[in-house]
Amino acid sequence: MLTQNLGYPRIGSQRELKKVCENYWAGKTGLKNVLTVGKNIRHENWQIQKDAGIDIIPSNDFSYYDQVLDHSLMFGAIPKRYHDVILKKGNEELDLYFAMARGYQKDGLDVVAMEMTKWFDTNYHYIVPEFYKDQQFKLFSNKVIDEFYEAKQTGIITKPVLIGPVSYLLLGKEKEAGFHRLDLVKNLLPVYVEIINKLKALGAEWIQFDEPFLTLDLTEKEQQVYRDTYKQLRKEFPFLKIVLATYFERLGSNTALTVSLPVDVLHLDLVRAPQQLDEVIAQLPQKTILSLGIVDGRNIWKNDFERSLKIIQKAKDKLGADRVWIAPSCSLVHSPCDLNNETNEAVLTPEIKQWLAFARQKVSEVVLLKNLSSGNASAGNEHRLAENKQANANRRSSALIHNQKVKQRVGNITEKDASRQNEFSVRKQLQHQLLNLPLFATTTIGSFPQTAEVRSWRAQFKKGTLTEAEYNTLIEEETEKAVKWQEEIDLDVLVHGEFERNDMVEYFGEQLAGFTFTQNGWVQSYGSRCVKPPIIYGDVSRPQPMTVKWSAYAQSLTKKWMKGMLTGPVTILQWSFVRNDQPRSETCTQIALAIRDEVCDLETAGIKIIQIDEPAIREGLPLRREDWAAYLDWAVKAFRISASGVSDDTQIHTHMCYSEFNDIIKSIAEMDADVITIETSRSQMELLDVFADFKYPNEIGPGVYDIHSPRVPNREEMISLLKKAETVIPDSQLWVNPDCGLKTRGWDETKKALIEMVAAAKQMRETVKETI
Ligand code: GLN
Ligand code: ZN
Repeated sequence: MLTQNLGYPRIGSQRELKKVCENYWAGKTGLKNVLTVGKNIRHENWQIQKDAGIDIIPSNDFSYYDQVLDHSLMFGAIPKRYHDVILKKGNEELDLYFAMARGYQKDGLDVVAMEMTKWFDTNYHYIVPEFYKDQQFKLFSNKVIDEFYEAKQTGIITKPVLIGPVSYLLLGKEKEAGFHRLDLVKNLLPVYVEIINKLKALGAEWIQFDEPFLTLDLTEKEQQVYRDTYKQLRKEFPFLKIVLATYFERLGSNTALTVSLPVDVLHLDLVRAPQQLDEVIAQLPQKTILSLGIVDGRNIWKNDFERSLKIIQKAKDKLGADRVWIAPSCSLVHSPCDLNNETNEAVLTPEIKQWLAFARQKVSEVVLLKNLSSGNASAGNEHRLAENKQANANRRSSALIHNQKVKQRVGNITEKDASRQNEFSVRKQLQHQLLNLPLFATTTIGSFPQTAEVRSWRAQFKKGTLTEAEYNTLIEEETEKAVKWQEEIDLDVLVHGEFERNDMVEYFGEQLAGFTFTQNGWVQSYGSRCVKPPIIYGDVSRPQPMTVKWSAYAQSLTKKWMKGMLTGPVTILQWSFVRNDQPRSETCTQIALAIRDEVCDLETAGIKIIQIDEPAIREGLPLRREDWAAYLDWAVKAFRISASGVSDDTQIHTHMCYSEFNDIIKSIAEMDADVITIETSRSQMELLDVFADFKYPNEIGPGVYDIHSPRVPNREEMISLLKKAETVIPDSQLWVNPDCGLKTRGWDETKKALIEMVAAAKQMRETVKETI
């Protein structure tokens, strides 16, 4: 029995990589520093894993920005707009790499970045490879080889990690018509062969191919390419030891295909999909080793050794000990670095801390599981097993976790709780009577610029250099300014600006029971951007109102309607570390009830328009299509529970930062929000077609300008977008708003853009008057 790791976090336990990269991009430090920090992180990671006792330690899991981009550079898949220009300007390879990731605006050049998108169903984002017809590949960057050599110098023979050829191609996009990207595999494989030859020459024994697409629905063609590719690789390298890593879901319908691929070790994610073990074992070829991904790479809970040991034993019984490996479920890049850095007991209490394990602890768990399972019962190991049992028992029975009232309330939910009193057609009339808004009513999505000043107040308040009263006064003044200004420019539905909020999930998590936070629990989201998700450890409830004070204050400043602003249950769930001792749906329902209470309290305080943001509802979709319905069912229901406690004349809005709803439009409609605002400006309203085809019944605010850049759009552009929207959605259903919240923008461009937006709406009203 051996242990392996699939990948280790690379941001550094103090986010050293983030800091040095950002300094480098700002021109504040040199490339040499970046390289040194990178090297130190790699060495530290290898050492940690070696000291922990991991047998097969990965290399090339490190990345300065993103591992998919590393591969694009390695294979010379560098779009034309980069290579000539950028290297000629005396830049280094890493500058080219950063230019692909972030764009290049220097030396009189203005080259846009490559597209970025989500890595399967995680919160990690990768840089999408761009493919062209007949594209040729060549070995361009030696990173994987250099890193293997670097580790070897320190005495560690690593297992280089490569994204498998099929997954790498599937991760990309065709940038011109007339071919399928998988057709490029014949051009790509020779580069893999070249790389593997170099690695072998240096002494590499094992290679890991990540093929997460094996856990998704595959077409016939994709399956065939899998067969051909691995057959080909095996032909080239009859004796190469190959680890085939699958993760994030079950093999399911791809089981027969996957076990037929000629590899030495097959890795399974048994945290996400424990049920696949029996089926895979039953079909596994005689000599193949099974790597049990049994320590959760994507969540922060301490492993349950008793449970894991049973699974390991079962695999050993059926396969024999030498055909079983033990590993985390997936790369630990999705885990925070080290629980030992959580030292502030006021932030993370010792009771909760004992239930957790971050990356560094997880590699130790993997080793310990091996030792315990091998009967290596040293006193130390026995002690740690007892400790693990004790911590998990404590967690199961802790008074911190269980709140009978919450459980009862969830148990008593009826269909009625998830439905408004009357259907939309009835509500619409009541709302229009009460709200009396014009056609093309204007609003924004909630936040206004979080200036450095506003953020510094929060930092000072946290540090104690501002008192709560002082901080509140400053936020009140900022809110008042925003309200007055919105009145001045004649927006119809105002917002308070969200100046008091750090982050749209954290703000609520901090006020809800059942949530806790960390000091250093950072996880890479993309490039140098890291997030620190809250931890949902127990039953969720709302001890007291969370936003009512601010919304009511803002409403008191104006006669116009003030929109209340909340984050929805699915988004709060999706952007947190979620407890693993009950179904996610259950936790989501608890959050929904807490938000419902807030919605009702806002209504009582006179807030008659309430927006419940659900930007994450689509990203929660399961990877396998056959699982979608079940998810959508509970997710939509949770939203409805949160929204349905109010009277019919209270208008519920929701917001999503995208509008690729083709697959799930029915569910979006079933959420039954009175108004939905969505991102559409970047697609020139094309994304609205689905709302037209489906005859979306409620009101829609298609974003009329992109807030992701400081560029100020003019009214004509917005009018032409609105006219396009009019062709698919009746005027009586249309709202006018930007794509998204404005917190990342400056005031200057925000003001100019919104003045134009209001003018555009007014002009639209004129044209309608003329036609009546
Ligand atoms: N109300 C939030 C804001 O305006 C919504 C953010 C989002 O959808 N991403 O910032
Ligand atoms: Zn948004």
